[in-house]
Amino acid sequence: MGLPVVAIVGRPNVGKSTLVNRLAVVRDAIVHDEPGVTRDRTYRDAFWRDRDFQVVDTGGLLFDDDSEFLPHIRQQASLALAEAKVAIFVVDGMAGLSAADEAIAQWLREQSVPVLLAVNKCESAEKGLIQAAEFWQLGLGEPFPVSGIHGNGTGDLLDQVVDRLPPTEAIEADEAIGVAIVGRPNVGKSSLLNAFVGEERAIVSSVSGTTRDTIDMLVERQDKRYRLIDTAGIRKKKNVEYGPEFFGINRAFKAIRRADVVLLVIDALDGVTEQDQKLAGRVADDGCACVVVVNKWDAVEKDSYSIYDYEKQAGDRLNFIHWAPMIFVSAHTRQRVPKILDLVDTVAEQHKRRVSTAVINEVLEEALAWHTPPTNRQGKQGKIYYGTQVATAPPAIALFVNDPKLFGDNYRRYIERQIRQSLGFAGTPIRLMWRGKK
Ligand code: GDP
Ligand code: GDP
Repeated sequence: MGLPVVAIVGRPNVGKSTLVNRLAVVRDAIVHDEPGVTRDRTYRDAFWRDRDFQVVDTGGLLFDDDSEFLPHIRQQASLALAEAKVAIFVVDGMAGLSAADEAIAQWLREQSVPVLLAVNKCESAEKGLIQAAEFWQLGLGEPFPVSGIHGNGTGDLLDQVVDRLPPTEAIEADEAIGVAIVGRPNVGKSSLLNAFVGEERAIVSSVSGTTRDTIDMLVERQDKRYRLIDTAGIRKKKNVEYGPEFFGINRAFKAIRRADVVLLVIDALDGVTEQDQKLAGRVADDGCACVVVVNKWDAVEKDSYSIYDYEKQAGDRLNFIHWAPMIFVSAHTRQRVPKILDLVDTVAEQHKRRVSTAVINEVLEEALAWHTPPTNRQGKQGKIYYGTQVATAPPAIALFVNDPKLFGDNYRRYIERQIRQSLGFAGTPIRLMWRGKK
């Protein structure tokens, strides 16, 4: 879940960075420095009472000689504020009220975010109240005297900040399906992302991912929400500041780890490559649901390949995820693009599905009747007593047997096939756990 962001604004030299250091109580918190439109700032982790959040210094707000904002600075600051839940406007209590402070206050009143006014450099408690008093004029409510250097007043300020953060429940109740779009460079991930965004006009917002350089995007469609994981990694590719590892396989692995459903994007012209197989292996290991998206289908000569032939050939090479449905799309023409999220719904449902013990045992009985378990050289035959589902996402079924060693790979695969044939579980890996008698 993305942490709520608290933005610090104010003109240069009022003590913003000193205050950020003070508020980010954990002194050695990871400092995330990163370029990007709204992200070229330093985010610091902070907590107060029972709340975690992040503090970002939006940089000094600069003005020209007539105390007008420099336009690009204003734009940057507006973007930074757009993602903040609370803004702390820092003014200099030693220097007193300035024209620039008034201009900033005016601008802040036009923003939708709640603003707290911190009057910095108020080392002495009594004097601080007097220093702070003149800032009532800014019309932003009570000025809080603080000292970034000594720390006084910051507890009261943080109380006010935490009171204005959205309730934790609202953040945790986020039931969105986590979707990672992964694939080699140039297979069309960012084109697909754009196609989604164009298709589903109800984009909710960009939200920060687990680390500062990941940005997720929430997409809403009908009554469902999707969290597209690490869209920063997909979109920022054209930014030369990023090294190749930014889009590398490790980044994809990280996205997969956070995903419920992985969209493994394949270039129809290239077919399944070794890197695709590597990603598929990771999807299976991490237990994600998966849809194989064969993109650029518009560019394939249809008489040389039918979907059926293609699917068979690609499927053979994607053996790790033989259970994943394959869809043939074009990000360019949008052919079947809306179908992708339908498939995401289906496989996400299977991923979380729970089957009753009675039904599992019916399937096992049937399977055993068709194919008796193997016998070893000593004449001992494998017996399956019963099975029960012990986990979801991905579904895991424990099979209680007399001796797991009696069941070789072939028979295990046979049982999995039977379970899939009878119960479905399309698009999700399933785990069979063979348990012997104690
Ligand atoms: P920024 O440009 O707004 O980020 O300001 P800085 O944090 O770099 O601080 C600017 C100057 O104000 C530095 O010389 C700080 O030492 C000083 N300063 C910051 N906080 C305080 C404070 O609480 N009291 C006093 N007296 N000086 C402060
Ligand atoms: P990414 O690196 O995976 O994000 O790939 P991009 O979305 O940047 O696309 C790489 C190249 O493939 C670009 O030149 C796109 O125009 C092209 N491309 C993407 N989707 C399609 C498609 O559906 N059909 C065709 N013919 N080309 C596509």
